[in-house]
Amino acid sequence: MSSIDRRLLVIGLDGGTFDVFRPLLQQGRMPNLSTLLQRGCWGELDSTIPPFTASAWSTFITGQNPGRHGVLSFQIRDRYNYDTVGTGFVNAERFDLTLWQILSDAGKQLSVVNVPMTYPPQAVNGHMITGMLTPSTEADFVYPPRLKSRLGQDYIIDVEFIRDGSSFRLRNFPSELEMLNAIRKMTAVRMRTLMRLWRDESPWDFAMVVFTGTDRLFHFFWPYVEAAVGNVNAVTKKQELDPVVMDGVCSYLAELDEAIGQLVQAAGPEATILLMSDHGFGPAQQWRVYLNVWLEQLGMLTRRSAQGMLDLEYLRVWVGRRPWLKALLRLLIPQQVQDSATDIAQASSVAIIDWEKTQAFLVPIYFQVCGIEINQKGLFRKGIVEPGEAYERLRDRIIQEARSIRNPNTGSPVVQRACRREELYTGRYVETFPDVILILDPNHLGAPSMAGRMLIESHPHPMRSGEHRQNGMFAVAGPDIEQHGELKHLRLLDVPPTILHEMGVAIPDSFDGCVMTALHSQAYLDAHPIQYQSVSAIPQRSAQNLSANEQALLEERLRGLGYL
Ligand SMILES: [Zn+2]
Repeated sequence: MSSIDRRLLVIGLDGGTFDVFRPLLQQGRMPNLSTLLQRGCWGELDSTIPPFTASAWSTFITGQNPGRHGVLSFQIRDRYNYDTVGTGFVNAERFDLTLWQILSDAGKQLSVVNVPMTYPPQAVNGHMITGMLTPSTEADFVYPPRLKSRLGQDYIIDVEFIRDGSSFRLRNFPSELEMLNAIRKMTAVRMRTLMRLWRDESPWDFAMVVFTGTDRLFHFFWPYVEAAVGNVNAVTKKQELDPVVMDGVCSYLAELDEAIGQLVQAAGPEATILLMSDHGFGPAQQWRVYLNVWLEQLGMLTRRSAQGMLDLEYLRVWVGRRPWLKALLRLLIPQQVQDSATDIAQASSVAIIDWEKTQAFLVPIYFQVCGIEINQKGLFRKGIVEPGEAYERLRDRIIQEARSIRNPNTGSPVVQRACRREELYTGRYVETFPDVILILDPNHLGAPSMAGRMLIESHPHPMRSGEHRQNGMFAVAGPDIEQHGELKHLRLLDVPPTILHEMGVAIPDSFDGCVMTALHSQAYLDAHPIQYQSVSAIPQRSAQNLSANEQALLEERLRGLGYL
């Protein structure tokens, strides 16, 4: 086998982070991951902005920055009508050219299992089982279709943490132990299925599997994860930890390392192994920043007046700004009613805005990543800001003012980075993105509510205990990979072209990233020069929409996972 015909295995750990694994490695509790790191190169991997599953895996699949694939969230927004949340779901049909197609066209045999954003499955050279955002296992999520019956009855795409109706926060989740056992079982079944496919189907040149259990574990069990590794971050308050759940969390982490070992072994000594995550993880945000209230204080946003006695949203804001009344109502009103009121308020915070007197408003992107949209004439139903100079002056002022927001409780700056959208993204979708992007300190989240008493309030009861961070992880080892140990400044955007270079396939000019040349010796790079191809030669895919039923199933699952 010539080195250009290397087999490549990509192990994806959704939300995997050295902030969790480093202490475990130091304690000798992840021997297989440790071996992999010692054999090659590794380092933190800068995710996309936002550091979010949908955006990050879309960048992996297309080799493009979010400005070119257009995915900032799971959903598609109706910007013109002030939709800040989104309705229809994004899916893989939107991608003009995928890594899978490029590899298939180059004659490589593929095994692609559970990568998010792959539904509906593509007719690859090999097989594909789609991942997150697949409506259900009832859907056609396997290519070729004959393989579906081989997955087994217990194969699931994701855990189901469906909550009861519109109930909010931790109530009505399954028990912690049930949730944890579901995560462990999902990973075990995925491994069993994958090993069976590798044994029975044609040998692969490129294989990839993503484990989403890591993301689910870190979202819902963060205090346990911190305790399991010896407190990586002191921000999470100590809570009562159930020893049985604690054992289960430790077992899951050990099982994950065993799975890595099993995959590396099954791939064989000639294979290159690439392990990566889509974003990092840390404790849930402690502070909520009411950015619409901030815009109101700046005179850029105006609340409308009350529309009759039954204007619930108006009343909510009125009550929310009177803490004594809020406290009294909390005592008097049943929790169930309070929960549904919170749900309604989150969905309709834009309903309180007087669009004809508003220049700018918040579009939440992902917790610490926030968009500010300018109510521009022609682009919005009731736009008032003139394009050109007035628009730019407003953006300048928002950016300048954002940089001076401080958290009065801690004295520290709230905004890490404030910039125009075109400073972060390039491509045809940039003009559909919020005009200004604010990246908050990760201990803060941007909230749309207008009912905040102050600009910044503590966020004592997050729905999930862990949330995403910018720093994902990366590791690579193989016969041609140098043993350089830790590398700095690695970017998710550079992984797809690096994969194609490893596989000896020309990189399309639609890719935004660069090959990670630091992985190789100069002699190797001289013998294997980076090659490029023009994408115009590649045919476009046809579109397919989700049915109303599939849409509802997806919504239910994402709500259960705390994403909607
Ligand atoms: Zn993720």
